[in-house]
Amino acid sequence: MNKIAIAGAGAMGGRIGTHIANAGYDVTLIDYWEDHVQQINNNGLEIQTETETYTVDIKAKHPEDVSEQFDLVIILTKAMESERMINDLLNVDAIQDDTAILTMMNGLGHDERFSKIVPMKQVFLAVTMWTAGLRGPGQLLLEGTGTIELQRADGHADDRTEKINNIFNYAQLNSKISDNVFHSIWSKATLNSVLNPLCTILDKTINEFAQYTNARKMITPIIEEIVEVTKQKGVSLSVDELVEKIENAYPIEAQGLHYPSMHQDLYKGRLTEVDYLNGQIVEYGKAFDIPTPNNEMLTHLVHQLEMKK
Ligand code: NAD
Repeated sequence: MNKIAIAGAGAMGGRIGTHIANAGYDVTLIDYWEDHVQQINNNGLEIQTETETYTVDIKAKHPEDVSEQFDLVIILTKAMESERMINDLLNVDAIQDDTAILTMMNGLGHDERFSKIVPMKQVFLAVTMWTAGLRGPGQLLLEGTGTIELQRADGHADDRTEKINNIFNYAQLNSKISDNVFHSIWSKATLNSVLNPLCTILDKTINEFAQYTNARKMITPIIEEIVEVTKQKGVSLSVDELVEKIENAYPIEAQGLHYPSMHQDLYKGRLTEVDYLNGQIVEYGKAFDIPTPNNEMLTHLVHQLEMKK
């Protein structure tokens, strides 16, 4: 795995890309945002951490300008741009038959969508607890630490899984190979499907939301619908464990002070990933004949807010 592309090099793509580049790998950032690409090529990627600000020299390209082939492509666009990105990279032959395509985007159903474009054996899924922020074109804000969990999407063993895991660990990204990545994907997607739309609609931080006496009564029906869907998807999660996971995010010393990313996207005038969270749960519900009225209403409310921006 010599040539690595980070396709979608915003906050998270920038973070993962600089870690891997700093470990000595040949990394190319690929992004649609012209100013960002130009800034990175002219001045490097500026990283601000809790303690220092420094610059990383790294290549950046617009997808149309890519002329190399990659062994590993890490998709970190927003979910709604991911299929366009894969198609654009196929058009310039950057993705070959043996290229591993890994995503650690939030949300659900990426494997199903990607496998309509490339064979499922090329698709790898990861869940990450790393976080990152973007201060402007070419400027990242990187705080805290995180972990990565990955698996080939069809669950099959593959030498490439081991190789990707080794690259991530060499890059100090705290990675492990999962034997059930969908459990972690659904667990994280449930937290995001509950707190992201509620805090966005209510314009509250996570801790402000938690102050309401009946917060648990608000989150439980949303979670119950998700758990019914997960049973059909072969993922074993309980309502109680998911309520506990979400309530663990409430304290100020956990994630309480944060507005979730959906809130940040909406208030920056950008589209949100709601169709890949609650909206995807509604789609699965329809396919399995499971009613999902709470998730459907949250999806509509967020789309209504998107229209106001
Ligand atoms: P991001 O908004 O920082 O970047 C996503 C894409 O949007 C990039 O291609 C970026 O260049 C582009 N973009 C950003 N601002 C832009 C602007 N002003 N003009 C034009 N283009 C712009 O998104 P992200 O936070 O890196 O998220 C990528 C994926 O990773 C998402 O699925 C997200 O849910 C997931 N994720 C993010 C975090 C995090 O902490 N940021 C953590 C885990 C997972």
